[in-house]
Amino acid sequence: ILSVMIYLKTDEEIELMRAANQLVGRTLAEVAKIIAPGVSTKTLDKRAEEFIRDHGATPAFLGYQGFPGSMCISVNDQVVHGIPSHKTILQEGDIVTLDCGTKLAGFTGDSAYTFAVGEISEEVHKLLKTTKESLYVGIEQAVAGNRTGDIGYAVQRYCEARGYHVVRELTGHGIGVNLHESPEVPNYGKRGTGTELRNGMCICIEPMINIGSKNVVQERDGWTIRTKTRKPSAHFEHCVAIRDGKADILSSFDFIAEVLGDREF
Ligand code: MG
Ligand code: MG
Repeated sequence: ILSVMIYLKTDEEIELMRAANQLVGRTLAEVAKIIAPGVSTKTLDKRAEEFIRDHGATPAFLGYQGFPGSMCISVNDQVVHGIPSHKTILQEGDIVTLDCGTKLAGFTGDSAYTFAVGEISEEVHKLLKTTKESLYVGIEQAVAGNRTGDIGYAVQRYCEARGYHVVRELTGHGIGVNLHESPEVPNYGKRGTGTELRNGMCICIEPMINIGSKNVVQERDGWTIRTKTRKPSAHFEHCVAIRDGKADILSSFDFIAEVLGDREF
């Protein structure tokens, strides 16, 4: 059955995946330059689309199952799948998640980062830091012979030990020619369960972590997922290949770090 087939990538294909994912990292950094109070999420989205097309790629999210933006842009209590809008204006103290995808030379990139708009509270800063750390805790488990449940278990344990809550309804995923391929990569679970990781697999690991409760609801726009409590949520995502038994991170936050300088978010 097509939906459960896992497409293993050759080394050459993994290099194409890397190129698409590096472009996502550069796009996120380009957009990070203009994140500020008073800027609309539509303005951020237009910048991303322009940058992606200027680099010979197309925005992988635009039109995906009818999604109207080039990025999913989710503010504060919005977890994922926020629709870019002229009406959503960033405010001092907000957090904003940019989730971006590219299609380049037939392969797909997908990565996400949650940014601070100006100064954010200590409480929210801790949420961002823990969520980002949990992404790398998950990636450590992305080695051949482990299972997807080892990744989920590690992310869940790390976040829950620090008082945070893991969204269940949305997961990471396989990726390749298509944005979403098998297997699912949940951010929760039991060790030793799920799909076995093998060389040539490309997966997106993407913890979505809430303050207050794991529960989420969908907005009436049919896309935006927000926390039920309306407390903030953070989301960081890398695309990873299993290669030579180990995790090879294909996306990059290095370009973002250059733009942010002294700040982490
Ligand atoms: Mg993504
Ligand atoms: Mg993804």
